[in-house]
Amino acid sequence: MLSTDEAALFDDRGYARRESATIQGGRHVRMGVNPPLITPIYMTAAYEFPDADMAAGLFGLEGNGHAYTRLGNPTLNVLEERMAQIDGGVAGLATASGHAAVTLAILNLVEAGDNIVSSNELFGGIWSLLGATLKRLGVETRFVSPADPKNFEEATDDRTRLYFGETLPNPRLRIFPIGEVAEIGARHGIPLIMDNTLQPFTCRPFEHGAAVTVYSGTKYLGGHGSAIGGIIVDSGNFDWDNSPRHPQMTRPDPAYGNVVWGEECRKLPDTRGRSSYLLKARETLLRDLGLCLSPFNAFLILQGIETLPLRMPAHSANALEVARFLAGHPKVDLVRHPSLAEGTEADQVKRYLGGEYGPMVMVELKGGRAAGARFIEGLRLFSHVTNVGDVRSLATHPASTTHAHLPEKDLLGAGITQGSVRLAVGLEHADDLIHDLDQALAAV
Ligand SMILES: *Cc1c(COP(=O)(O)O)cnc(C)c1O
Repeated sequence: MLSTDEAALFDDRGYARRESATIQGGRHVRMGVNPPLITPIYMTAAYEFPDADMAAGLFGLEGNGHAYTRLGNPTLNVLEERMAQIDGGVAGLATASGHAAVTLAILNLVEAGDNIVSSNELFGGIWSLLGATLKRLGVETRFVSPADPKNFEEATDDRTRLYFGETLPNPRLRIFPIGEVAEIGARHGIPLIMDNTLQPFTCRPFEHGAAVTVYSGTKYLGGHGSAIGGIIVDSGNFDWDNSPRHPQMTRPDPAYGNVVWGEECRKLPDTRGRSSYLLKARETLLRDLGLCLSPFNAFLILQGIETLPLRMPAHSANALEVARFLAGHPKVDLVRHPSLAEGTEADQVKRYLGGEYGPMVMVELKGGRAAGARFIEGLRLFSHVTNVGDVRSLATHPASTTHAHLPEKDLLGAGITQGSVRLAVGLEHADDLIHDLDQALAAV
């Protein structure tokens, strides 16, 4: 049965369920009265202005046309609307990569002298972005363990602008306490930004109070590993326009003729008018830093999203079989997988992932770094790569690749040992995957 809210949606756009949004979401946005069935790739840098007034209007944030693809493009608009619908948010902003999404989502709210509080369990590249690159710009990241949500509150002061976490970060594969940290944020007027890259569709951070989600579209959204891209989604639940903690959002902005973003936003007739946060990110940061997504990559990621509701549970089922096999193997020291969580952690897994466990498995072999290396070299079906999030099964040795630049103490802090191997379990048949792991373990 549809709830009343869902029934209203159904009337509005013809469907209410997220499964339908993955296929239909945004398909008609800015596509005219006779929309194409398949979203076209608008490979154009610029758009012709019919007259001078229209051109001037666009630069004055009036009307809903396009000026230049760095600021917006119809193919990207479909992706943005589709992801907003899937997450239950109000608007999206497509970016060149997952890194670009995180960069824009944060820079949009901070300036030198401000700080953010982040989980210390993060994808390695994002760790460097927050810990080194933002630091160089004068923005401090206070890394705290999410094991106790109160750590976020303790690290907060009056210059804290946002909280940041990752849904199910490897290598620990411990679920982030989204609701608990969002609740602390709500008391202090601080938005929680969740990197939901590895659990798209499975986890819905907005239902637990997160203000913003960020994604690398390179991973499971696309699923094919052929396009780098990213996206930010605004839940619509954070009152950016009246937030005492966010002068970046409420003060007149010298980066755009001293506009006040909340006021500009309310004037806009299209989807940009639903989020002052993303309007500002688009019109200032995307414009100035140029981290825009290629329309071709947006098309490829849209193709992947169409099968997301089928792929994620299938990854999850395969990963569970792999985790069970490894947990029973004599050469294995430790397996990390959400199905092995106990007590309150198991309750959290259920609460945030709704009965699925995701595609990731971490394994530590007896014999440390040398055993890890021999194992990964012996795999035939799993490919040895640095990334995750593909229909193909992938294996990574974090200590020598993704986390190679971290000092040993930070490595251990992130739960990585020299012998850890990360598996992103793909959609090949589970019997074949287990056979591959078995033969590689035999050679260790
Ligand atoms: C890969 C990844 C990113 C970065 O995405 P890119 O598209 O490679 O820039 C960010 N967060 C997580 C969790 C990731 O797995």
